[in-house]
Amino acid sequence: MSALKFIKECQEKVFSGERISVEDAKNLFNVPNEDLKELAKCANEITRDYNGNKVDVEQLNNIKKNACSEDCTFCGQSAFFDTGIETYQLPSPEEVVTKAKKAKEEGAESYCLVAAWREPSKKDFTNVCNIITEINEKVGISVECSLGFLTKEQAKKLKELKVKRYNHNLETAKSKFPEICTTHTYQDRLDTLEIAREAGLELCTGGIIGLGETREQRMEMTLELARIYPEEVTINILVPVPGTPLELQVNLPNSEITRIFSVIRFLLPESVIKISGGRETNLDDAGEELLQSGANGIITQGYLTMDGNDAQKDRKMIEKIGLEA
Ligand code: SAM
Ligand code: SF4
Repeated sequence: MSALKFIKECQEKVFSGERISVEDAKNLFNVPNEDLKELAKCANEITRDYNGNKVDVEQLNNIKKNACSEDCTFCGQSAFFDTGIETYQLPSPEEVVTKAKKAKEEGAESYCLVAAWREPSKKDFTNVCNIITEINEKVGISVECSLGFLTKEQAKKLKELKVKRYNHNLETAKSKFPEICTTHTYQDRLDTLEIAREAGLELCTGGIIGLGETREQRMEMTLELARIYPEEVTINILVPVPGTPLELQVNLPNSEITRIFSVIRFLLPESVIKISGGRETNLDDAGEELLQSGANGIITQGYLTMDGNDAQKDRKMIEKIGLEA
């Protein structure tokens, strides 16, 4: 069977509500480059059919920056590497409320509180809960969190505070993980996702591509994401941070980036698939093509330690390609 016919057959399976098999996903991942356009087009049709034209726009607030105890080789906020990134501890609830209000005015649907630590201490967790309570009372925007490892009690508390979704990334394939982090395990990350799900939180998970992994390993991570079936997948494209072991890592070709976004869409037709860190630095078009190749979400207005496009510019880009911000 030709690759084009095979892609169409997989698309028909998805439209009929059937899940494609692991074998199908592997074959889609390996379609020749000349058929990549068709793969992306079919992924886009699945996105439109299941999710309409709306793009999920999110803003982040890095509420605790740098000096993290973990040694993730890609991360500019690890205390293991001298990256010169400023360090700060938790801001006051008032400061976060002001920023969350601005994000809402700029059209963000969700506001994600992110912390550069392995897990929250008791005191920090109480402070984060106070921040969430204030946002709920004074802003009224959907709150998401990315706070590292959680206990069952903490996950339950976040659910009580109406946190909608919890982000915790797999980062890469299980077979690659020991090369990118030695202070915790892949299983630790899976356990946290399980704890969050058991508490009734929606899941957002994904990873970083371009860490030096093989296509096979990107496929491995994709299949793990399909098994977890999160409400949202977040894919970062590595931004090499000076001072980290990956500072000289070469960029992935755009075709490999399109490939993974498209196949994830075939596997997870209903999920939000978000282009996260690295969108502006790795892609010439700030994500236009990926938003027509399976992705339907972006992070706007800057990342954890990097600036991004401003919200207005991203809104215009979304409208230019006929989608809704
Ligand atoms: N410390 C928590 C954790 O590891 O789960 C909270 C979030 S961590 C600060 C946020 C995410 O940013 C990471 O999980 C990783 O996927 C992404 N990230 C970090 N450094 C990056 C880089 N240099 N390029 C692209 N994405 C990056
Ligand atoms: Fe710490 Fe998270 Fe960065 Fe790893 S990714 S070093 S856990 S902040």
